[in-house]
Amino acid sequence: MFAQTNPKIYEIIDNVSSERIEHDVRILANFGTRHTLSDTVSETRGIGAARRWIKAEFERISESCDNCLEVSYQKNFVEKGAGDRIFEDVWVVNVVAVKRGTKYPNSYIIMSGDIDSRVSDPNDNTSDAPGANDNASGMAGTLEAARVLKDYDFEHSIIFVGLSGEEQGLWGGKGLAAHAKENNWNIIGILNNDMIGNIKGVDGVISNRDFRIFSEPTPPTETERQRRARRFYGGEVDGISRQLARYVHNTTSTYMPEMNPIMVYRLDRFARGGHHRPFNDLGYAGIRIMEAHENYTQQHQDLRTEDGIEYGDVVKHVNFDYAAKLTAVNAINLASMAWAPPAPENVKIGGMVEPSARFTWDKVDGAAGYKIYWRETTSPTWDHSRYVGDVTEYTLKGIVIDNFFFGVAAVDEEGNESVVTFPSGVIRN
Ligand SMILES: [Zn+2]
Repeated sequence: MFAQTNPKIYEIIDNVSSERIEHDVRILANFGTRHTLSDTVSETRGIGAARRWIKAEFERISESCDNCLEVSYQKNFVEKGAGDRIFEDVWVVNVVAVKRGTKYPNSYIIMSGDIDSRVSDPNDNTSDAPGANDNASGMAGTLEAARVLKDYDFEHSIIFVGLSGEEQGLWGGKGLAAHAKENNWNIIGILNNDMIGNIKGVDGVISNRDFRIFSEPTPPTETERQRRARRFYGGEVDGISRQLARYVHNTTSTYMPEMNPIMVYRLDRFARGGHHRPFNDLGYAGIRIMEAHENYTQQHQDLRTEDGIEYGDVVKHVNFDYAAKLTAVNAINLASMAWAPPAPENVKIGGMVEPSARFTWDKVDGAAGYKIYWRETTSPTWDHSRYVGDVTEYTLKGIVIDNFFFGVAAVDEEGNESVVTFPSGVIRN
């Protein structure tokens, strides 16, 4: 029988440091501006200095673990006029650190933060834009997760990445997603962290426990056939990004029960964007992890005081303990997925006009067994589960197929679970 929980996950939570996150947020904010089209020559100001510091920091982390990270720039040339916010030719440069998987080196779980920042005018590339919360918090969290996970071995690869060009139109994410596609990366999912440090909302609500997990319902790349099949077999709210969101919700509820993850059933906030989207656009699973209570006077603002209100995304508004909590949420999910067997493939479901639900799936290399999950059709989370052992077919007796949605996960001996696979086929009688 496998373990119910993995003690190493608690160790990871304990090792995340809010002091180190604070240190890094302060350094990033001190580059003055990290605008994507800002100075790249100065050693102290602009996005060039910022990305060199991030790369050096990943390299420093790597040196402390016998070069366990492959650190590089991933560069994307974007031509002037490619978008409203690209007013000059620019190299959009991401900083990538890969912790290579021991068993599935080409299979990746990605944690991202953003390097770039902005003020009120998105094309103002010289004014001070500390971007302490948006998004030095996500960048610092990504660096800290790399520190905390560096000494473990994982079966799947983990990528820690600082993306650029977010505020100018998601260019860094587009570039890395295209790079992934060209190189046939198998991406299990991307956890995009964009603003993970604000606990006091513009509406006055204060909470250091709430956070949001944004996920789109179904992939934009699905075929017409898949779309039609949903009308009969379900899956309207069960795409791969949504399963990733449920995974993060479940891991957090299990290991960090003091936190309150909020599943938000949408790609991103109303009419707003984030760096998981370019990955979703190419058919990869990706979610946005962020604070629940935003403060709009403290994002994308020129630093100023107006009517007694201090505008600007400055360091003093970032809650580092909270950023550390959300970093831990990322780190434990990266670790769980990177330790777990791959998710089952070819999951089929049957049970029409029967008092039971039947399942088949392909055997997963390295799985000790499988867990069937199910939930009421209106529930956002997988609320029921049953460990069914090392089999590739199973019948849940007494469960009427019509009244629930189902999925199957692979589990290893330490209790690490894959993301749940929603059935993609039907067992004919
Ligand atoms: Zn922003």
